Amino acid sequence: MPSPSAQPVFRFAPSPNGLLHLGHALSGIINYEMATAEGGRFLLRIEDIDQTRCRPEFERAIFEDLAWLGLRWEEPVRRQSEHLDVYAAALERLKAMGLVYPSVMTRGEIKAAVVAAEAEGEPWPRDPDGTPLYPGRERDLSPDQQVAIIASGRPYAWRLDMEKAVKHADASLAWREMGPSPASETSLVAADPAAWGDVILSRSDAPSSYHLSVVVDDAEQGVTHVVRGRDLYHATSVHRLLQRLLSLPEPIYHHHRLILGPDGRKLSKSSEDTGIAAFRAAGYTPADVRAMIL
Ligand code: GLU
Repeated sequence: MPSPSAQPVFRFAPSPNGLLHLGHALSGIINYEMATAEGGRFLLRIEDIDQTRCRPEFERAIFEDLAWLGLRWEEPVRRQSEHLDVYAAALERLKAMGLVYPSVMTRGEIKAAVVAAEAEGEPWPRDPDGTPLYPGRERDLSPDQQVAIIASGRPYAWRLDMEKAVKHADASLAWREMGPSPASETSLVAADPAAWGDVILSRSDAPSSYHLSVVVDDAEQGVTHVVRGRDLYHATSVHRLLQRLLSLPEPIYHHHRLILGPDGRKLSKSSEDTGIAAFRAAGYTPADVRAMIL
């Protein structure tokens, strides 16, 4: 018998901000089947940190759709909204290390700065998702100016000072990417967190960002294998950096193919015709859905 610590731990971590589609079915099934094949544990995590977009009926639909597909997971299910203190503690550690700063610049202001710069003929750098990088204006404010921002009552976000953080992380950063089977060789992928600029780690309307909560949760839950879609491949660079800064263990990663819609784009939660519930309602069986995606 393997010791409990040697048992692989997989997780599927959807956000309840819409109905699950075929892409989620693929991700859930791949995780579940890898866990089963490896004699590992399969966890379901509800990533409901963004309370402005998450709704209880979508959470109920996640349970229903996954159970209908034949997936079984451990109880209790971790909900991010119930662990805000843990993310806050991680942010405090980064504050104590001097690696984060408060920023009041809104999305609109950032956009205006980018438009103005590009009007001068300079292309503005963009992150791997295509979003213009934050211009970094508030990065070098004095401690007094920072205190004034926080005291001003304006909504603000905590941003990671990427340059400092990368320096602090020191040795070269990489992650281990495995093939479609945990038995396959892993390859080392160089992480490039700087491509994301000064990412947000928390904001007034969402006390922890996706990046911060996902690395904290994977560590808290002892996740050994992070299996998720290719759309999150580049985000892994930021996750490895945060793991290094917070001294968290390093999982193995596998980024699987995405299911694309007829327009060649990845499916979205608003495209109801590819929703798992819609197929169920139309009389499809779980085997039919699997045949469509596997
Ligand atoms: N909650 C994320 C999503 O729904 C997935 C996070 C992850 O697997 O790391 O896209």
